[in-house]
Amino acid sequence: MTSQDAEILIIVDVQNDFCPGGALAVPEGDAVVPLINQLSMRFDHRVLTQDWHPAGHSSFASSHTGKAPFETAEMPYGTQVLWPDHCVQGNPGAAFHPDLVVDRSELVIRKGFRLSIDSYSAFFENDRTTPTGLAGYLKERGFDRVVLAGLATDFCVAYSALDARRLGFATTVITDACRAIDLNGSLAAAMAEMTAAGVAFVTADAA
Ligand SMILES: [Zn+2]
Repeated sequence: MTSQDAEILIIVDVQNDFCPGGALAVPEGDAVVPLINQLSMRFDHRVLTQDWHPAGHSSFASSHTGKAPFETAEMPYGTQVLWPDHCVQGNPGAAFHPDLVVDRSELVIRKGFRLSIDSYSAFFENDRTTPTGLAGYLKERGFDRVVLAGLATDFCVAYSALDARRLGFATTVITDACRAIDLNGSLAAAMAEMTAAGVAFVTADAA
């Protein structure tokens, strides 16, 4: 394997509901699309993740009597932020952004499809133990370096980056190809946690 063959770009949740006009819009979420399209040309290998919830998912505030979006609930696996209904399986909001180039990607990892547990990370559901299968796929194919871009920096990108480090992958986040929700200081906290875990940060022109 050449060194480039050991590296893969993970494109996180670039879906309509996370872009302006969507149900859980990340500010400027759509701004990552052209950058990611350019970036993906420079990688030999790419995977996509796709948030993919059944209707009535337990991460939706609407599934919890008396709760509003962005409040929290205690789940068996820990504290869960409650979101507006988003990325419901098969709905237009769950589709990839129409301008995102998806055809070059080798795999789509769908996550959050179990009714009673959310999944921010591309690698594990929010109990941090139930695998999505991505780690096995990457290891079996010989990848040892992952590069992350997409939405949102402080949730699905950060959780994926932290798990990638925990699994032993060299991990880079392309900062300008991500956008954050930044809920109650979540972006600063995520950046600090990723830094402490040994995640590298670069801009797209240096990737
Ligand atoms: Zn979700």
